[in-house]
Formats: sequence, C-alpha cells, structure tokens
Amino acid sequence: MNSRFDFLRLNRQLEERREQHILRSCVCVDARTDSQISIGGREYVNFCSNDYLGLSGDPHLAEAWREGIRLWGCGSGASPLVTGLTRAHRDLQDEICDWLGVEDAILFNSGFAANQAVVKALNSKNTVIYADRLAHASLQEASVLSGARYVRFLHNDPASLESKISPQSGMIITEGVFSMDGDQAPLNRLYDIAQRSGNILFVDDAHGFGVHGSEGRGTVDLQGLRHRDIDVIMGTFGKALGTSGAFVAGSKDFIDYMINFSREYVYSTHMAPSVAYATLQAVKIVRSGEHLRRKLGENLRYFKRALEQLSLTASQSVTSIQPIVTGSSEKALQWSRELVNHGCYVSAIRHPTVPKNTARLRITITAGHSFEQIDKLTEGLFACLQLR
Ligand SMILES: *Cc1c(COP(=O)(O)O)cnc(C)c1O
Repeated sequence: MNSRFDFLRLNRQLEERREQHILRSCVCVDARTDSQISIGGREYVNFCSNDYLGLSGDPHLAEAWREGIRLWGCGSGASPLVTGLTRAHRDLQDEICDWLGVEDAILFNSGFAANQAVVKALNSKNTVIYADRLAHASLQEASVLSGARYVRFLHNDPASLESKISPQSGMIITEGVFSMDGDQAPLNRLYDIAQRSGNILFVDDAHGFGVHGSEGRGTVDLQGLRHRDIDVIMGTFGKALGTSGAFVAGSKDFIDYMINFSREYVYSTHMAPSVAYATLQAVKIVRSGEHLRRKLGENLRYFKRALEQLSLTASQSVTSIQPIVTGSSEKALQWSRELVNHGCYVSAIRHPTVPKNTARLRITITAGHSFEQIDKLTEGLFACLQLR
C-alpha cells in the first residue's frame, strides 16, 4: 500500500483480519435472474439476499421504474427542501401513511441514512439512548455520534431495559425483526415501558415490512400494535419491497421537526423520483401480496422440515432469516465454501457484524425460491455436516 498511509497501519490491520479469518471482500455478480446469480462464470441459487418476496426481479415493478424515468427523468436534481421533492415522492409518502395509518412520512436514500437522521436529530449530550445489544450497526454508529449516553440492554430482554431506564430521559431503540438472528422484539413490552417511563420508542423494522402482518404492515402490526402508537418507525425499500431507499414515519410534528433539523435530510440530494414512483408500485404489490407471503411461508416450512431431518439445530426464527450458527469464523467460511461448491450462495457472517464466536451462515429463504432450489441447499448442508 502507498507508504503515505503507513502511519495508519492499514496493512497491519488487514493482515490481522486475514489471520483471524475475518477479512472481507466484495464479489461481483455478473448476472441475475430471479433467485439465480452468476459469479465468475458459475451459476448459484442465491440464499443470502434480503429480497424476501422476490420483488427485485418483478416485471411489473421494473415497468413502473421505467415509467417513472419516462415521467421524471433520472436524478431528483436537488435536496428535498429545494426542488428535489416531486409528486412521485409525495404520492409514495401518502401511500405509506395510508398503509400504516400514520400521520406523515419522509424518504431517504438508504436505511443507514434514515437511522443516522433520526437518532442524531432527536439526541444530544442531554439524552440517553437505550438500545438492544444487537441493534444494527447504523443505529450504534448514530448513537455514538449523537453524543448521547449510550446504554445497551440485553437482547430482547425488557427486564434488562427496565432496570436501566430513567423517566423522560431519551429514546428506546429496537429492531422489529433482528437482521442476523431473525427473531422478533417483544414490542408490546417495550411499548409499555416507553409509555410508563415517558421515553420515545423507535422501531427499525427493515426486515419486517412486506413479510409480516396484514397487508405486509410489519412486525408492529403482527404483534397487535398500531403504528401510530410507536413514536418513530423506520422501514427500508431495499429488502422485501425490492427497490432501494427508506422511509421514516411518525406524527406530523415529528416529521416537521426532521424536515427542519435533520442534516441528513436537508443536505442530501433526494431519492431519484423514478425510485419513488416504482416504490409506490412496490407498496401496492406488497399490500395485496398475500400469495407471496403464503409462498414464503410454505418455503420456510419446507426448509425447516429439511433442517430437522438433518438434525441441524434450527433457530427459533419464523422469519426469512434462518441463521445456522457455526461458532468459529473458520467453520462458517468452510461451510460457506462447501455450499458454494454445491451451487448455493450463502455468505459467512463473522465478527464484527455479529458477536465473537457466533459466526454463522445467514441463510435467507424467499418467496422466489422453488422447492427444488431448497433441496439443493439441503444437500449442500448435508455435505457440510460430513466435513471435519
Ligand atoms: C439493512 C438495514 C438497515 C439499512 O438499510 P439500507 O437501506 O440497506 O441502508 C438498517 N437497519 C437494519 C436493521 C437493517 O437490516
């Protein structure tokens, strides 16, 4: 590496990662059709995307995106407060309000940006953030940058939260469905604690929207709560909705505050209008997508039965996310390579994405998979079990 970087010890840090089997690199997907991907001249079934309903390849959605470009051109050309917010964006915001029964919503280019925006706009050195220990990196990052006191409670453990919380001191942060484990937060309990202690509740449901609840309204709906009871909701479009970007929803006052005070919102070129236009179509597909959710459920049951037959300890997860924890990073890599040899693409998730010694294969089952493709995965897992 360039010697001018020497003082930062970049090479040393990379070498350490290599030694610990946690060095990462990106693979380049050369082609993609439905749940098949082609990498380096070979075909694989993709078992690690977050495209839970298989919508990223949906022809109606692609057509809507093209129509959005025809109507609005390519980029939005400005930040939302200047002229970057178009009718296409407003229509999507209105659809989200109607879908979730919330007062208002705003759009971001990514869920990462949305989380930075919310956490930093609502916190300062005078507030406390109470976050589930396994909350997403974007939430942890934003919490630290916000200057707030950062208190982590034990994963999905309301008693742990209760033992740490002070009245009217800040914000409780949780995911709806946890991204690396696929389990759900006890939202009713967290809601009660937020109510009683007078603290804000923020739910990041990146992995719940589209998949859970009636009309795919997510984990909040699945657990019998109403979105308008939750102070702040974040959802992403890049997962089950098949496009890209994210929304933040809540009361009118809260959204007005974000529009005025969130630097991520004010100082960033708005989402391309064609993306908003296509995403409106995606929300409509999701709302009437019971058949997709039914197919996903059938695939999940089929896969979990196969896991049982292999006597693999399946996680309790009832969501698309089906992790198989291998413990060591080395073993996760070995299994991932074996599955790749069997034509199934599953990436090994290692520290620091997950806690040390909980490396895993993060398998995702989607509505786009066929039973034959799942059989192929089962055969691959059988081969992994024969490895030493
Ligand atoms: C994926 C994810 C995000 C980030 O969303 P992007 O749109 O991919 O930037 C935020 N929170 C959780 C829990 C996620 O899984």
